[in-house]
Formats: sequence, C-alpha cells, structure tokens
Amino acid sequence: MAYGVGLAKGLMTTLKHLGRPPVTFEFPETERPIPPRARTNLVWFVERCTGCSTCAQACPDGCILVQTQPREDGSYLVERYEIDFRLCMYCGLCAEACPYEAIQVGGSYTNVVRDPNELYHDKPKLTAFANNYLEQHDWIYPNGQPAVRQEIHADGERQHL
Ligand code: SF4
Ligand code: SF4
Repeated sequence: MAYGVGLAKGLMTTLKHLGRPPVTFEFPETERPIPPRARTNLVWFVERCTGCSTCAQACPDGCILVQTQPREDGSYLVERYEIDFRLCMYCGLCAEACPYEAIQVGGSYTNVVRDPNELYHDKPKLTAFANNYLEQHDWIYPNGQPAVRQEIHADGERQHL
C-alpha cells in the first residue's frame, strides 16, 4: 500500500464525524436514556412481596436473604429482606422467578459507592430506593403496571398520598 494512504483514510474518517453530534454522554452530568426494564439494578417492592423466598432460591450467587414471621391471618410479615450487591451479577433470575413481580429489574445505575460494604442493602435501604423509583417514574412499576400513590415505610406501613 502506498505511503500515507492509511493516514488519509484516518483523516477522512475524522472529517466525516466532525459535523455529527456526539454519541457519548457527559456522565455524570448527563445520564444516558435507558429502557425502563434494562438490568441496571434491582428494585424490590415491599408492598408486593409475600416473603415466599422463591427469589432467594433462584439466585445462583446466594445474594438474597428473606426472613419472615407468620401473622395471625396466615400471611407472612417480611421482617428482613436483604440483597448483597457485592455478589450480584445482575442476571435477573430472581426477578424472573418471583411469582408476584415484587422484585423487578430496572432503576438507576448511578448509585455507585466507594466502599464495597455499602453494596449490602437491607430492607430500609431497598424500600427507600423503591419509593424513590416510583416517585421518579410517575408511580409506574418497571414492568409497566401502575402503583398506588403511597408512602411505604421500611416496616411495611403504608401512608396514602
Ligand atoms: S440478579 Fe442474579 S445474582 Fe443478583 S440477586 Fe438476582 S438472581 Fe442473584
Ligand atoms: S420478592 Fe418475590 S420471590 Fe422474593 S420473597 Fe418476595 S414475593 Fe417471594
């Protein structure tokens, strides 16, 4: 190949892209739009959860802990629900296994941390994350279903808005 042809081709490619808008985003100032069900995170909704533990059994990494207490009416109070995101590989199998779609894929991917131990999310942290998700998404779950406008506290208490 003649000397300089490669250089000319490279310059042509540069020139072609000069007038085009950038395809990159100035993260974290600008977030890239993402489909609502992209596997960016896991969102657990206490108000949909029965404490059946199917998600924990489906998880290949053993990231999920569910601890329940039987109620007098036969249902279960979910005392503890915890996800260890230090181990999670975001495969989404827990969400696929959940019969009530109480854990769903979606949500922000910007909650990064410096200390890996902060990736252990307990029930209050997961509940706050889910509440925040619904407030920011016009009370629509990641699966597209409408949610009731209510404030849900970590202990499962609901307060209608
Ligand atoms: S996304 Fe996969 S690895 Fe993470 S908690 Fe769910 S099943 Fe486990
Ligand atoms: S998130 Fe779903 S699968 Fe897991 S305990 Fe709750 S209802 Fe059961």
